[in-house]
Amino acid sequence: MSTSILSLHTDDYRTKGLRKQLIDSLAEKGISDPLVLEAMRNIPRHFFLDPALDKIAYEDRAFPIGEGQTISQPYTVAYQSELLNITPGERVLEIGTGSAYQASVLAEMGAEVFTIERQQKLYDKVQKSYPFAERHRKLYFFYGDGFKGLPQYAPFDKVLVTAAAPFVPQALLDQLKPEGMLVIPVDEGDAQRMKRIIKKADGRLIEELYDVFRFVPMLKGKNEQSRK
Ligand code: SAH
Repeated sequence: MSTSILSLHTDDYRTKGLRKQLIDSLAEKGISDPLVLEAMRNIPRHFFLDPALDKIAYEDRAFPIGEGQTISQPYTVAYQSELLNITPGERVLEIGTGSAYQASVLAEMGAEVFTIERQQKLYDKVQKSYPFAERHRKLYFFYGDGFKGLPQYAPFDKVLVTAAAPFVPQALLDQLKPEGMLVIPVDEGDAQRMKRIIKKADGRLIEELYDVFRFVPMLKGKNEQSRK
């Protein structure tokens, strides 16, 4: 993958080099799923950011993407992707499309991805100019409220929430297949505890606790205003 026709970005030796360094640092921080590391090596993160940020796109930090939202930190994307334990071909629901970088990494890992965004401007943008539309034919964008999930496309093997959830939405649990899992950062004061909830074959739920992160809030309803 070299140049995106739809964007002003190119992926040259410099961005490739910076990306390799970033991925190596993620491996040093403990990310070990080869599917995650390979996907993040393949997807140029700077394509999802303003061209003015090309030089710093490979720092391990979040950046603004407009509408008061952010693209998650690469470590967080890697961490959540690893917890999902993806097998190619699985059907994954993501809440919080944002820049579509996380969705792109999941699609690159071979998942069929259904991703929902509540901010209309962000949805319009990715819908129109997703840089790897040809390559990721099984990545689908939706405008809606992630608290409701996507019942018409359920059940899902995996569900990923990429915004700070005030609680675990029942609809998302309902839309999981037996043996499926939900990865979700849940509010705990001013930060969120990463949780992985596994639905057993008999419907029982097992909750696992992981590290603490900081996400932008998961908000109810759709935001249709401020369309320019
Ligand atoms: N996965 C994104 C991270 C975006 S930040 C990326 O890789 O860039 C979280 C996103 O969740 C924001 O864009 C925010 O608008 C969106 N969001 C918040 N609450 C939501 C909800 N209820 N339904 C859908 N999207 C929501």
